[in-house]
Amino acid sequence: MDRTPPRSAGSRHLIDLDGNATTPLYPAVLEAMRPHWLAGGNPESRHGLGRTARQAWERARETLAAGLGAHPDEVIITSGGTEANHLAIQSLAGIERGPGQIVATGLEHPAVSSALDQLANQGFEVIRDPEAVGLDGIARCEVMARAIGPFTRLATLMLANNEVGSIQPLRALVDHAAAWGLPVHTDAVQAVGRIAVNFQELGVATLAASAHKFHGPVGVGLLLARRGVTIHPLAQGGAQQSGRRPGTPPVALAVGMATALERFRAQAAERQARWESFRDQLARGLIEALGADRVEIHGPGQPTLRLPQTLNVGFHGVDGDALLMQLDLAGVAASLGSACASGATLPSPTLLAMKVSPGLLRSSVRFSFHAQTTKDDIDEALRRIVAVARGILGAADEFRVVALG
Ligand code: PLP
Repeated sequence: MDRTPPRSAGSRHLIDLDGNATTPLYPAVLEAMRPHWLAGGNPESRHGLGRTARQAWERARETLAAGLGAHPDEVIITSGGTEANHLAIQSLAGIERGPGQIVATGLEHPAVSSALDQLANQGFEVIRDPEAVGLDGIARCEVMARAIGPFTRLATLMLANNEVGSIQPLRALVDHAAAWGLPVHTDAVQAVGRIAVNFQELGVATLAASAHKFHGPVGVGLLLARRGVTIHPLAQGGAQQSGRRPGTPPVALAVGMATALERFRAQAAERQARWESFRDQLARGLIEALGADRVEIHGPGQPTLRLPQTLNVGFHGVDGDALLMQLDLAGVAASLGSACASGATLPSPTLLAMKVSPGLLRSSVRFSFHAQTTKDDIDEALRRIVAVARGILGAADEFRVVALG
């Protein structure tokens, strides 16, 4: 297993169960990037340094393409998942033809939904039918397909949800869209480096990914754009990356991303099996310790329809903010299924789209693993989570007894 130096909260071992937010860089990735950072060299330059950088850049793109079932010329390196999603959506929307229609769901990450909102402000109609998301967090492609018509420019559906881990039936959407000759974009940021992803087999027009979700460097991602799909740059500049993403190519970052993807692929089966056992152990342990009436696991019931490294748990009667804060004090890093904006906690768009009951919207926590999560981490995290949740529930019960006299 790839290891980084141990982290500690005081004398206590800090357990990172927030791998969907980001993952620590593999030491091997750092080593692979180091010579390229130190040597410099612009791949566009016509001298030895430039040629060496160009070779590394092209090799990285070839590795990424091979790892994702794409051609090297379909790989566009970006600054991350957010940029890749915006680049695809802006391009496929065909703004130059005037406003049109886009079919989406409420499941999308803000990296996508903000791109859609931006187009809505420019006169586009963005259709997010509430019926297009099941209670299990899986999109109903037949409902999405009903919205497709002659004015639809694109359909977008994430490959795997960042909050509950639901894996989406993308191929079904692609098949529906094909009848209209409609391109489909997918945000695969939470899928790449967690499950096998094959661009060719998915049949989508564009796919976004981000290196920091699979132990690569932060600040680099990619867009795969199928041959024949025109990508309009978000910012004008030089002719780099065929003019689709101008700017001096970040060679070291691309090498880091390619190295991280290669390492995932070499260990994928073992890693997925380990994550699945952690996910199921944590779910079982919480239900056994706190009671099935206290704990609700969000997402599809069928384990194969959920990302192996993601577990989203609703704790009935427990305030999510308090739980997260006390887990932090107890040395467990997790994430709330909601976002903070201007000091207020907003319910998570995913949980809202899944029509999770109002009582659980602010009581749901996401636990997510990465390559360095161990069985000991899960055993200890389970003990700490149960102790913290029991503490909060006990305090609430005492308060109720006192309040009721
Ligand atoms: N899409 C999804 C589903 C994500 O989870 C994230 C990040 O959390 C992004 C997009 C944004 O990626 P990046 O942080 O590389 O911009």
